[in-house]
Parts: sequence; structure tokens; C-alpha cells
Amino acid sequence: PTLRAEALPEDAPDLDRALRPQFLSEFVGQAEARANLRVFIESAKMRGEAMDHTLFHGPPGLGKTTLAQIMARELGVGFRMTSGPVLAKAGDLAAILTNLEPRDVLFIDEIHRLSPVVEEVLYPALEDFALDLVIGEGPAARTVRIDLQPFTLVGATTRLGLLTTPLRDRFGIPTRLEFYTEDELDLIVTRGARLLGIPSDPEGTREIARRARGTPRIAGRLLRRVVDFALVEGDGRLSRAIADRALTRLGVDHLGLDGADRRYLTLLAENYGGGPVGVETIAAALSESRDAVEEVIEPFLLQQGLLMRTPRGRMLAQKAWRHLGLEAPRGQNDLF
Ligand code: ADP
Repeated sequence: PTLRAEALPEDAPDLDRALRPQFLSEFVGQAEARANLRVFIESAKMRGEAMDHTLFHGPPGLGKTTLAQIMARELGVGFRMTSGPVLAKAGDLAAILTNLEPRDVLFIDEIHRLSPVVEEVLYPALEDFALDLVIGEGPAARTVRIDLQPFTLVGATTRLGLLTTPLRDRFGIPTRLEFYTEDELDLIVTRGARLLGIPSDPEGTREIARRARGTPRIAGRLLRRVVDFALVEGDGRLSRAIADRALTRLGVDHLGLDGADRRYLTLLAENYGGGPVGVETIAAALSESRDAVEEVIEPFLLQQGLLMRTPRGRMLAQKAWRHLGLEAPRGQNDLF
């Protein structure tokens, strides 16, 4: 089995922090989102108010957490971080909300996984900066309203479709993050190599950028692995040859697909004649959760034009057959 870059352990968290952009000006890519955020941040600062609630959605590793942290830093306010699955009880969220300082940023990762009771607490908090607490039980129960400091909720989700409509509607600034271009990833890798103090050739950083699955998190991880190979098996320089050798050893092919991606495509080709196949069937055959298939594997394959979503299920595109070095079944080509 090949190593999945996405699943590699987060080594050296200090290093990770050093590589993370701290300000909007250092953040590469997502030009549209960045330009808009700059305006909303400036405006909130001029008004002296909490910035509007913001929702980031898109595949993992594209910079949702990083942007939330940058927002807090640019706004000059505190940053608190939690996640949907961690907030089990209404009281968990109430405790966090009552401890916020004015205009703080509260970041909730995986916000589509909030429980309904916790979500109920969030609604008045988002709309009126207030908590409605139920005191007592039975007929004697009554609700008291507690005022909160104004704050900015930043939610992140890989699955916009799983958010309830009322929650979604409460975000003034919904922002979709896109996969990064090769040029953008090259800038990120080049900056990373510089911060790691490793000399690099332009063709070396480019090779990593090309094979990073459009994702800065993967670019960062691949960079570190390539640096390992450069130090141990090379001359300490990030060259194209060493990058290629390291990435091939890690099971990352020239399109940036890893073992899980290729297993997915091969399954569709060999077991289902290229589809259409339902996502449940695919997940079961791969022993992956449906969430992992839909959130982690498929978005990049779709973006690369390797895969198509049809009403009847997933289908391999011509490009995928070619990539696998297989012949599409007769009749299938006519579709394209
Ligand atoms: P998400 O929250 O979307 O899963 P993160 O914000 O945790 O993603 O980012 C994953 C990694 O990629 C972090 O180590 C971060 O430093 C890096 N990263 C993300 N976006 C960028 C960017 N635009 N420039 C440089 N590094 C980035």
C-alpha cells in the first residue's frame, strides 16, 4: 500500500506554524476570497464592530483554518477554535460564547457536524448576540436571555450541502475555496523551501507543485518528504530529479494522484466498466466512508476532469481511462 499524503502524521508542529501564512498579504491564491475579505475586515475595523459571520467551504487543506486565524490577526482580536463534533452539549457552546471578548473570532471547524441542540443555541447568539437559557424544569421552567459580547463566527465545512438552511442563512459572508493552480502552489512550495532553509531549483519546486493535488496542505507535506530524500539520498538540494524520485516512492503519480485516488479509478474501470456507479457502492468496495469518498477523494478527480457525476452515478471520463493506460469500453467514447 502507498502512503496517503493527506494521512501522513503532522510532524514538527512548530514547523507547521512557521509555514502557515500569518497575514492576508502572505496568503497565496484564492484571489477573489482574499480581495473580498480585505474589504470586509477593513470595514469592520473602521466601524469598530465585529465582522460579519463568515463561512468557508471547500475540500480539506485549502486554507479555511488559516484564513480564520488571519482574520483574527488582521482584525486585532482574539481567536478561539473548536469543532462541530467536540461541542456535544448546549452547555459546551454556551461556556465558550460567554467567555468571548468583544469582537473575537470564534472558529468552528466541521460546522456541518454540530448537533441540533447546539445549533439551536447558536441561532440567537449569531443574530442577537444573546443566549436563551432555560432555567428550572417542568411548568416552572422559564427562559432567561443573557447578552453576549458581539463576536464573529467563522465556520468551516467540507460539505456545504450538509448544513441546515437556517444555519447557512445566518452567515453574511459565505466563501467557497477553490483548488490552487500550479503557479500558486509553486509560490507556496518555494516559500516553504526558503523557510526550511533548503536550496531549491525552480524545476524542483514546480514538480512538487504539479503533484500536490491542488492543495497547500499536501504541498507542504510533500515538500517535507522531498527534503528528507534530498538530505539523505541527494546532495541536500531540492532538484527535479530528487523531487520526482521522492514523490514516486511515496506513490504520488505525475497528476498528483495517490494510492487512494488510483484505487478509486481502477475500481470503476475494472469492476464497473467505467460506471455509472453509486457512491455508496464505491465507498463499500473501497472500505472507505462515504464522507471520505465525497469530501477527500472525489472533489479533485472531478476538478481534474477524470470523473463525472451523473444522475445515475459516477462515471470515468476519457482522461481517466488514458491515465490508467486502459481502453474505454466500446460505446463509452461516444459520450465524450
Ligand atoms: P483547512 O482548514 O482548509 O483544512 P488549513 O488552513 O489547515 O486548511 O491549511 C492546511 C495547511 O496548508 C496549513 O499548514 C497551511 O499553512 C497551509 N496553507 C493553506 N493555505 C495556504 C496558502 N494560501 N499559502 C500557504 N500555505 C497555505
